[in-house]
Amino acid sequence: MTNEIASRTLSQRVLNMKESATLQMAALGREFKAKGYDVISLSLGEPDFDTPVHIKEAAKRALDEGYTKYTPVNGLPELREAIVHKFKRDNNLTFDTNQIVVSNGAKQSIYNICMALLDPGDEVVIFSPYWVSYHDIVSLVGGVPVPVYAGIEKDYKVDAQQVEEAITDRTKLVLYSSPCNPTGSVYSRDELAEIAAVLSKYPDVHIISDEIYEYINFGDQHVSIGTFEAVREQTITVNGFAKGFAMTGWRLGYIGAPKWIADACTKIQGQVTSGASSFGQKAAAYALMSDLAPTHEMRNAFMNRRDLVISLMEQVPGFRVNHPKGAFYLFPDISQHFGKQSRGEVIANSDDFAMFLLREAHVAVVSGAAFGAPNCIRISYASSEAELREAIERIGKAVRLMND
Ligand code: PMP
Ligand code: GLU
Repeated sequence: MTNEIASRTLSQRVLNMKESATLQMAALGREFKAKGYDVISLSLGEPDFDTPVHIKEAAKRALDEGYTKYTPVNGLPELREAIVHKFKRDNNLTFDTNQIVVSNGAKQSIYNICMALLDPGDEVVIFSPYWVSYHDIVSLVGGVPVPVYAGIEKDYKVDAQQVEEAITDRTKLVLYSSPCNPTGSVYSRDELAEIAAVLSKYPDVHIISDEIYEYINFGDQHVSIGTFEAVREQTITVNGFAKGFAMTGWRLGYIGAPKWIADACTKIQGQVTSGASSFGQKAAAYALMSDLAPTHEMRNAFMNRRDLVISLMEQVPGFRVNHPKGAFYLFPDISQHFGKQSRGEVIANSDDFAMFLLREAHVAVVSGAAFGAPNCIRISYASSEAELREAIERIGKAVRLMND
């Protein structure tokens, strides 16, 4: 009865929406744990490290100093100044403080931008595999996601020609992350230069460059597409504190954008959530202006785990393993297992495979289908070395017990 009322009453918008697959799998893992199974969760993209002590201390000080009130909607001036400084120092991007908007997580930043720029039917070219929420945020605001796919043989990176082929007269935005969630791939300067050269021909098409994994980069220097002069005015750079500073629960993200876009995002946010938490913003400013050594230590730990996970995963039958240059995800192609059976049930796709691993190995991963890559699974290796070893051993055992 309640379900009938719900389906009659809920908006089409929410009925058409999918639940976030990353959060859903994390919840399912917790459910299995609550039933008494010893589940290792490699599903959620969340550093296992605690927020560095100096940042927590800064938040406590801010509370004691009375930072308990509303802040300006676009963020405390002190934080926006720190972000301007950070953009210059780390990315060679020049912004004024009135081009910065601080939000409750980079997720809200992306939502604000889509809400600000998209009318129903407007297209967003999304580099695929993509982070789950890109697709659903675009749909939620009435936009049309246009995924452009690159498989493992291209290190999951789309090229400039593919981007150009996807552009139509309805295209409003191009959206990607580098380092990429879910693949860990990092676009090089040359690759981005080619993409920028194409996009500069379409000045009404704006670029959302999601750089939230910037500090978790194991190779070349991070490159922001906004540094290419030809697309500077078209680019919105998104970043946040969740990954590089292990601050997922603080809910703090930000953008640097042309002022008219920043103003529009502020207008939306002013009616929806207002500014982010005051003492959190104070601590975030402190984080950006402090020594980044703790961030670099976390990056090095992730790099060691990446090497471990690759070497162990390459020994699991039927796993085609990529070699990510950043973030903390591995994105193996597991399609060789499709059609095999476990306990009489056929594993037909990546959803089945992820469920099979949860049931048989008690390891939670996320199905690649949610990221636009139905031949793959995403493994978050933001876990201890011991857990990673144990998880991969269990995966190997479960896979070897499948029947052809
Ligand atoms: N972009 C990407 C690529 C992500 O993986 C995430 C997940 N944290 C976000 C944005 C959102 O980050 P936040 O937690 O700051 O909302
Ligand atoms: N971004 C992380 C992930 O991809 C956290 C969960 C989420 O926000 O979707 O797992």
